Amino acid sequence: MPYFDWNATAPLHPLAREAWLEASETAWANPSTAYRSGVRARSRLDEAREEMAQMLGFRPEQVVFTSGATEANNAVIREIARVSPEKEIWISSVEHPSIREAALGLAGQSRARRIPVDANGQVDLDWFEDQLQISAPGLVSVMAANNETGVIQPWPQIRGLCREAGIPFHCDAVQWIGKYAAPMGQGCAAISLSGHKFGGPKGIGCLILGEEWTGLKVQTGGAQEMGSRAGTENIPSILGMVAALKARLNSPLPAEQLNARDTFEAALEAEWGGEFCIHGKKADRLWNTSFISLPSHRANRWIAQLDRFDMEISSGSACSSSKSGPSSILEVMGVEEEAAARTVRISSGWETSCADWNELLEAIKQVRLVLDSEPASSGP
Ligand code: PMP
Repeated sequence: MPYFDWNATAPLHPLAREAWLEASETAWANPSTAYRSGVRARSRLDEAREEMAQMLGFRPEQVVFTSGATEANNAVIREIARVSPEKEIWISSVEHPSIREAALGLAGQSRARRIPVDANGQVDLDWFEDQLQISAPGLVSVMAANNETGVIQPWPQIRGLCREAGIPFHCDAVQWIGKYAAPMGQGCAAISLSGHKFGGPKGIGCLILGEEWTGLKVQTGGAQEMGSRAGTENIPSILGMVAALKARLNSPLPAEQLNARDTFEAALEAEWGGEFCIHGKKADRLWNTSFISLPSHRANRWIAQLDRFDMEISSGSACSSSKSGPSSILEVMGVEEEAAARTVRISSGWETSCADWNELLEAIKQVRLVLDSEPASSGP
């Protein structure tokens, strides 16, 4: 069944599964113990940290394993609210709820400032540069790529501006890592990532810390994770995540797979012209994501019907799906409510073939016929 919600989560990569199972049998001991099985588990953990650091272009001491990106994001915001309680926290207005809610909760409406985005959902760099002349926040947090639109943010430029101004910069790189091989490089105070977005197990991630932040405490208690995160390490999941990232970085996708989303969008544009809209179209986007307003009918009706055709797509972030109403990201992009209510997110992954995209295209055309033929009372 073609699965098109890879930005919500990816299936476990076979090599990650193998690594997880193997480690569950051979490295289940507590790595903080002194007997041989504990020492062996410790060395597997150390190796995993080294491998993760090496793949991402960091040093092992910079890598703190967490239960995922939500925990990592929350920890960064909490830390800045602790060390600079009087300062503002600037976040982009399209951040994930794990940044947005943490910033609002800890810094309050008055000190959590939202960096505006343009109509394509990309951070307004001019606004940012101007505001930096006027005031200095305690932290700037801007994601590498948005989970709904797929829009890639100008995070290297923001990181550079923050560095010049001596302001710590955090980047939520959850949707970027595993989709691109280029290392992010040094210069961020902190970077968050999540294993299940690139084929690792769920409930595991990393917080990468810059030099000046290596003392950050994600959780207090025991001295695990170089004193940064208390709690017994989840070695099978850590090894599974490392195996998944390795698999991703070692097998770049062929161009036709990377271009399949564009072919799909072009076909829909040719079919429906002005009735159809691609959000973030003019910005650089992740190669796998299409955030589109489909014609005439509400997103939930498209999604339910497509599910009957065995096509799994979503209306946007799974972390916001319990909230009613269209995506808040479309709101800040200035998209009208009516078009926002017709918006669906389609996101592919390494297993998605060009044939799957074609099948989805045909299913969408079929579903439109079905929806158009339904009584008007059940319309949008
Ligand atoms: N940030 C972004 C951009 C995400 O897409 C997600 C997952 N929806 C998270 C953070 C949270 O990651 P996790 O599931 O590991 O807590």
